[in-house]
Amino acid sequence: LKNADTAMYHAKQKGNHYLFFNDSMNEQAVKRLQIENLMRFGLKEDHFVVYYQPKMDIRTGKLVGMEALVRFSTPKKGIISPGVFIPIAEETGQIIEIGEVVLDKACKDVKRWVDKGLFNGRVAVNLSAKQFSLPDLTARIDIILQKNQLPSYFLELEITEGTVMDDPQEAISIMRSLSSRGIHLAMDDFGTGYSSLAYLKQFPLNTLKVDKAFIDDMGSERGRNMVDSIVTIAHNLDLHVVAEGVEEEEQLALLKQLDCQTLQGYYYSKPLSSEEFERFLESETEH
Ligand code: C2E
Ligand code: CA
Ligand code: CA
Ligand code: CA
Repeated sequence: LKNADTAMYHAKQKGNHYLFFNDSMNEQAVKRLQIENLMRFGLKEDHFVVYYQPKMDIRTGKLVGMEALVRFSTPKKGIISPGVFIPIAEETGQIIEIGEVVLDKACKDVKRWVDKGLFNGRVAVNLSAKQFSLPDLTARIDIILQKNQLPSYFLELEITEGTVMDDPQEAISIMRSLSSRGIHLAMDDFGTGYSSLAYLKQFPLNTLKVDKAFIDDMGSERGRNMVDSIVTIAHNLDLHVVAEGVEEEEQLALLKQLDCQTLQGYYYSKPLSSEEFERFLESETEH
């Protein structure tokens, strides 16, 4: 907000130098402000929807869970990608409200699927750093679970390295309070941030998600060795491994060799709307 204001102030002051200031930096600031406003409006008007991407067991090909992924559907600009609005929402703090909308909707959907006998696994919901450091985080989550009458057994939270490495000791205590409720915890985008093996051992984690960037590199021997090392570390720490962004058959074959259990990616399915995912669940239970 501040940046956009200053940019426009300079633009006015400089008169005939207007074009110089109407550069990409200014445009970017204006765009951020537009998205911030769109998000404020979107939160009021219920424009945030949740998509679900299946997580499959690599050996059986059966669904074991899914990741909830937010989509921002605006009437005028269509769908805005999370890659665009999440970083802005992180900065403005709107991610707290958006994150709670996602958790609430995911709990509501999963409750319905559990009651219909269609699902008995866990839904993974992304937790941003801003949410993680809320002093009343666990109370907020409890309220949303209770409101939807969903036992914590059905929930997993995905947290990135950046979130927990900021203050690892504090993170351990927050993670313990979540974990003691039966909520599972996954380390998301593993290997892309600052990770410390010393801490990895102390965090009460259940799952380690190998970032898509590593899966993309599996075409080379070095890339394969890297994934091999990550999977080995995870197994030594008794963690479940999920490979993210698997698109090709060869990647799947290699991951099977490396003993990675769970796979998420376009190879099986793109993220699906709630209606599409329900149909997917129905087709799964048929056979
Ligand atoms: P992420 O948590 O790493 O989520 C995985 C991303 O990879 C998703 O992108 C998913 O659609 C994409 N993906 C999965 N498989 C494949 C594949 O085979 N190929 C390709 N090309 N992409 C694949 P998406 O939905 O665009 O989300 C991007 C990021 O936005 C997420 O990365 C996450 O960091 C953030 N995000 C999404 N939803 C939420 C949310 O509800 N809360 C928070 N805090 N962050 C979210
Ligand atoms: Ca994630
Ligand atoms: Ca991820
Ligand atoms: Ca990722």
